[in-house]
Amino acid sequence: MTFEYAPALESRSIVEIKSKYGHFIDGKFVPGKKYFPTLNPATEEVLSQISLGTTSDVDKAVAAAQKAYTKTWSKMSGKERGKYLYRIARILQERAREFAVLETLDNGKPIRETRDIDIPLVAAHFFYHAGWADKLDYAGLGHSPQPYGVAGQIIPWNFPLLMLAWKVAPALATGNTVVLKPAETTSLTALLFAEVCQQAELPNGVVNIVTGDGSTGATIVNHPGIHKIAFTGSTEVGKKIARAIASTDKKATLELGGKGANIVFDDAPIDETVEGIVNGIFFNQGHVCCAGSRLILQESVADEVIEKLKVRMTKIRVGDPLDKNTDLGAINSKEQLLKIGELSAVGDAEGAERWSPACSLSEKGYWFAPTIFTGVTQAHRIAQEEIFGPVLSVLTFRTPQEAIEKANNTPFGLSAGIWSEKGSRIFWASQQLKAGVIWANTFNKFDPASPFGGYKESGWGREGGRHGLAAYLKTGKESGAK
Ligand code: NAP
Ligand code: MG
Repeated sequence: MTFEYAPALESRSIVEIKSKYGHFIDGKFVPGKKYFPTLNPATEEVLSQISLGTTSDVDKAVAAAQKAYTKTWSKMSGKERGKYLYRIARILQERAREFAVLETLDNGKPIRETRDIDIPLVAAHFFYHAGWADKLDYAGLGHSPQPYGVAGQIIPWNFPLLMLAWKVAPALATGNTVVLKPAETTSLTALLFAEVCQQAELPNGVVNIVTGDGSTGATIVNHPGIHKIAFTGSTEVGKKIARAIASTDKKATLELGGKGANIVFDDAPIDETVEGIVNGIFFNQGHVCCAGSRLILQESVADEVIEKLKVRMTKIRVGDPLDKNTDLGAINSKEQLLKIGELSAVGDAEGAERWSPACSLSEKGYWFAPTIFTGVTQAHRIAQEEIFGPVLSVLTFRTPQEAIEKANNTPFGLSAGIWSEKGSRIFWASQQLKAGVIWANTFNKFDPASPFGGYKESGWGREGGRHGLAAYLKTGKESGAK
């Protein structure tokens, strides 16, 4: 006998969403000229109207950031900057529930994840970087490393506030000021963060947020007042940015796409591994750059793993993201839903075998059932291209060497997972894998002290840890040090 879960809805009354939002420039909200709607992807309800940033808005934001850099932020001691970062971190913790509900409404991800993962990690990034602000001389980057000035930061929709934290916290800790553009479909938590900057009495102009679309992002990238660019998003746009800055002296970190291999050896603890596979691909609806989207199973355990995985997938609860029992929420946008559908149809056409558990999906909103494709070969597009949704491609191997070759046979190199009981096998495999982040017997674990980034088409540079600080600082001769 199975029992139905009673609804366990988180109340949305804690958030107050305005009917429209301007940009946050020089410490104030300023109205935009044109607006576009932001939706709740679980219901298609219009939540608010967001300003579409123009060239003139970006000019004003860069001018404010430049002024704040020259007059205030670059003159302040690291200890003082750290105080603001600690203050922001504490306010984020105090207002965590509000941020979690707002992120869930605007993005579609389950409240369980925003509440337990996104927002606590956001606060952790500010705390971590607050601690570095007065210790930069001891970060191993040489004597007195210097900030670049104004950093232009462009972020995607999959972890809206977390990507903001990954960008804003190190920039501020290292003494840079910022102009940040959130993704078109998920600006609301960035705008609430602007209120936190006001509440923390952060000097005006240190953080500026210009909302808008790809053209607003391109204007930031090309602005002559921007000296450092931090971008997270698709490989396609990352390449455009790399081309745009090729003949300039702008520095950039690019955190791009992935097609992470999750390798299961025959000695892996199968039940734990199945949990890890589910976490690897169905966490955040699979909208994760480092998702374990290619499962590579040793042939001798493949049937057992697939069978147990299917049983486990029947327990995944798809539905209202505000329900505390929901595991898989809404797909962030209609466009993304179409992309996932198109690539999955390619999987069918290429002869892979599709399977999803029975689940009833709401008529309203954007939904995709958790899906696996078995019988996938390396030549299939679903083994090579990023689907960025709850869709897993399953391949098999016979020898460890074959597993490594298959895992590395991709244009990307962001993440990988290894499941095995043998430490020696884990160390051997992790040395062969061309991936920036490798997890063993776990997946999708993040920590602000741990550098994150990729090889090949997954991007340039690292974010987080000491490596992430280095990306915001001129060192050696570049800094003017003798
Ligand atoms: P995207 O289309 O590249 O968008 C990312 C951001 O860039 C958005 O703010 C977007 O604005 C803006 N943008 C679009 N065109 C631009 C241009 N020509 N110049 C400057 N900015 C521009 O990516 P997405 O579809 O939102 O995000 C998903 C991708 O991000 C996936 O490929 C995923 O793997 C990657 N990702 C990587 C990491 C990592 O750390 N490596 C983390 C998360 C996600 P609009 O929103 O208005 O389009
Ligand atoms: Mg939205």
